[in-house]
Amino acid sequence: MISVDAAQALCLGLVRAGEAEVVDLADALGRVLAAPLRAKRDQPPFSASAMDGYAVQSGQATTGSTFDVIGEAAAGHGWDGHVGPGQAVRIFTGAPVPDGATRVIIQENVTRNGDQITLTEPLKDNINIRPQGADFTRDFTLDAPRALTSADLALIAAMNHARVAVIRRPKVALISTGDELLMPGGDPGPDQIIASNVFALQAMLAQTGAEAHVLPIAPDTPEALDTTLAQAADWGADIIVTIGGASVGDHDLVAPALDRFGVTRSFHKIAMRPGKPLMAGAKGRVAFLGLPGNPVSAVVCGHLFLLPMVRRALGLDDVLPPALTARLTAPLPAGGPRAHYMRARFDEGDAARQVTAFDRQDSSMLTVLAEANCLLLRPIDDAPKAAGDAVTIYPI
Ligand code: AMP
Ligand code: MG
Repeated sequence: MISVDAAQALCLGLVRAGEAEVVDLADALGRVLAAPLRAKRDQPPFSASAMDGYAVQSGQATTGSTFDVIGEAAAGHGWDGHVGPGQAVRIFTGAPVPDGATRVIIQENVTRNGDQITLTEPLKDNINIRPQGADFTRDFTLDAPRALTSADLALIAAMNHARVAVIRRPKVALISTGDELLMPGGDPGPDQIIASNVFALQAMLAQTGAEAHVLPIAPDTPEALDTTLAQAADWGADIIVTIGGASVGDHDLVAPALDRFGVTRSFHKIAMRPGKPLMAGAKGRVAFLGLPGNPVSAVVCGHLFLLPMVRRALGLDDVLPPALTARLTAPLPAGGPRAHYMRARFDEGDAARQVTAFDRQDSSMLTVLAEANCLLLRPIDDAPKAAGDAVTIYPI
C-alpha cells in the first residue's frame, strides 16, 4: 500500500492543464485565467478629481484667499481651458482635472459668492486628485494562473477587456456502481439504499470549477460497467470517476473493468483511513479514479485526490488541500498503520484554533460528515495526543 502523499503525486501525474477558451467577463467568475492579461489603458486614464469642490492652482493660497470661478468640470464632461493663478473650476468627483490646476479644494472648505469662492480653512496635504494611472497603467498585467474573483472581474473590466481567456472546465464523469443503489426520490426495495455520494461529489466538482456529468447507476455486472465506462469516454470525460466496487470482494468489479477498458493502473489501495481501496490510472489522456463506495470514504477521497486533479487540470499551482494547525480539545489514542483522516469540527477560539474529533468515525456516517468542517490527520503510527496538542487539519 502506498502513502497518501505518493498516491496524490501519482493522481496529479495523470492530468495536465486543459486548453484555453474565451468567455464573456460576466461568465468568468471562478474561472482560471489562462494567460497573463495586460491592461489596455491607464486607470484613471486622466488625472481625476477625488472630491466635489474647486480645482485651483493652489501655490500661495491661505485662509481668506479668493478665486474666480471660470468653468465647470463633471464626470464625463471635462473643461477645456487652463486654470491660472486666482482662478478656480467647479469640479465633481471623477471629472478630469483641468490643465493648470494642481489641487481640488473640497467644497466644504470654501464659501461661494456668485462667481467667487473664498477659502475658509487652511489647505491640508491632500490634493484630492487621483493621478493618471494611479490604480494601474497600461503595462499592468494580471498574472496567470489565477482563479478569478468578483473583484478581479471589475479590474479586468476597468482594463477594458470584455472577454477573457480561461482554462476550459475539465469534464468529470461520475459512475455509481452497485445493485443496491437507487436515485433519491424513488421507491426503494427492501434491499436497496439511495445513491448519495454522487451528490456530494457533483457539488464539490462544481465548486472547484469542473463540469460534472452523472451517468446512470451501473449494476454489479461486468457488462453494465463496460457500457457505462464507454458512455463516459464517449461524453469526452477528462476524468472518469467510479464510486464503489473498488475492493476485492466477489462483487467488486471496478478493477477488472478498468483493466478490460485498457486503463494502465497507477496504484490500487492506499495506507489511508477511510479510503483504503482507492485506485487510479489512465488511458491515453483520460484519467481514472476508483473511489470506495462508503459515502464518507468517497467524499474524503474526493477532497484529497479528485479535487486536486481538477485543480491541476485547471492549470492551478497550489492544488493540494491547504493544511492548518489546530489544538485538540480532547486527547486521542495512538494512530494506526494507516493515515487516519478523522471527521472533526474546528473553530477559531479566542487564543488558538481548536479542533474536536467526532466520536463516531465509521465511514458510512453521513450525519457525522455533515457536522464536520474539517478532516483531522493522524499520521501513520502517530503517538497518543493530549488535549492542547497541535494537529494538522484540512478544512472541508
Ligand atoms: P462498495 O465499495 O461497493 O463495496 O460499497 C461500500 C459500501 O458503500 C456499501 O455499503 C455500499 O452499499 C455503499 N455504497 C456504494 N456506493 C454507494 C453510493 N453511490 N452511495 C451510497 N452508498 C454507496
Ligand atoms: Mg458495491
